[in-house]
Amino acid sequence: MPGAVVNSPEAPGAELRFASLGSGSGGNATVVAWQDQALLIDCGFSARECLARLKRLDLDPGCLSAILLSHEHGDHSKGVAALARKLDIPVYMSAGTAAAMDFGRLPALHKISAEQPIELGGLTALPVTVAHDAREPLQYVLEHRGLRLGVLTDLGSLTPAVYSAYDALHGLLVEANHDLRMLACGPYPPSLQARVRAPWGHLNNEQCAALLADLDLSLMQHLVVGHISRKNNHLDCVKAALADAVQALPSVVYACQDEGVPWLALKLP
Ligand SMILES: [Zn+2]
Ligand SMILES: [Zn+2]
Repeated sequence: MPGAVVNSPEAPGAELRFASLGSGSGGNATVVAWQDQALLIDCGFSARECLARLKRLDLDPGCLSAILLSHEHGDHSKGVAALARKLDIPVYMSAGTAAAMDFGRLPALHKISAEQPIELGGLTALPVTVAHDAREPLQYVLEHRGLRLGVLTDLGSLTPAVYSAYDALHGLLVEANHDLRMLACGPYPPSLQARVRAPWGHLNNEQCAALLADLDLSLMQHLVVGHISRKNNHLDCVKAALADAVQALPSVVYACQDEGVPWLALKLP
C-alpha cells in the first residue's frame, strides 16, 4: 500500500509527544519527541528564537537529533542552517529543496525522496509529496512503535498520496490557511491571492474540512489546526468550517503564530 510506514507492532505504553513552536506565515516549527530523543520539522524562526521557544517547552536542545525540512520557503527554513550548525545535527530535505537554497555548510545534509521512509533511532519518518509552489516540497508522517503522527501544511490540493499517507493517524497538525471570502476581500494583491488559492498554494478551510471528513479519524487523539493566515482567515471561520468534521474528536487545538501549541501526548494504552 503506498504510504504505509507501520512495520512495528503496536507497543503498549508507547508515547509520542509533539508541540508547535509557532505556526503561520511568520514562521513554523514542530517538535516531536519520543523516548529520550526529539527532532524538529522545519525551523522558520531564527536559531535564537527557536531555542527560546524550545526553552518555553522545557526541552533540552541537546535532545534534538535531526531537522526535517519540508521546503525552502522562509517561514519553514529561516533558521534551519544556523540551528543545525549550532547543535551539530543533520538536516533532511529533498534534492529539490537542497538545490533551491544556499544553506552554507551543514553538519550533514541527507537528501530524501517522497515515499522513501527514513529511520531515525526508533522513529520512522515517511516523506509525502504535496502540491505546493516550491521546488520539491515534502510533508511528513512519523511513526513510533505503532503511534502515527502527521504534519501537513503548505499544500494546495488534496491528492491520493495525501489521503493514503494521512489516514488513520493518532495525531495530526493540518493546515487551514485561508477563508476564500476573506482572501478575496483581503489585503493581498490579485496575483498573490491567485497564488494562495491555486492548486499548488495553500489549503482553505473548506478543503481542510473535506480532507478531515474523508480520513479515518477513529484513532485521532489530538488534532492541531495550523498555518492559519492572520490576514485571510479568522478563528471563527475555521471553527465553523471544521465543526462537522471534528465534532467527534477528543481534542482539537488551534495553533497560533506566537504561542504555537504546548506538548500533546499520543499514547497507546
Ligand atoms: Zn510554503
Ligand atoms: Zn508555510
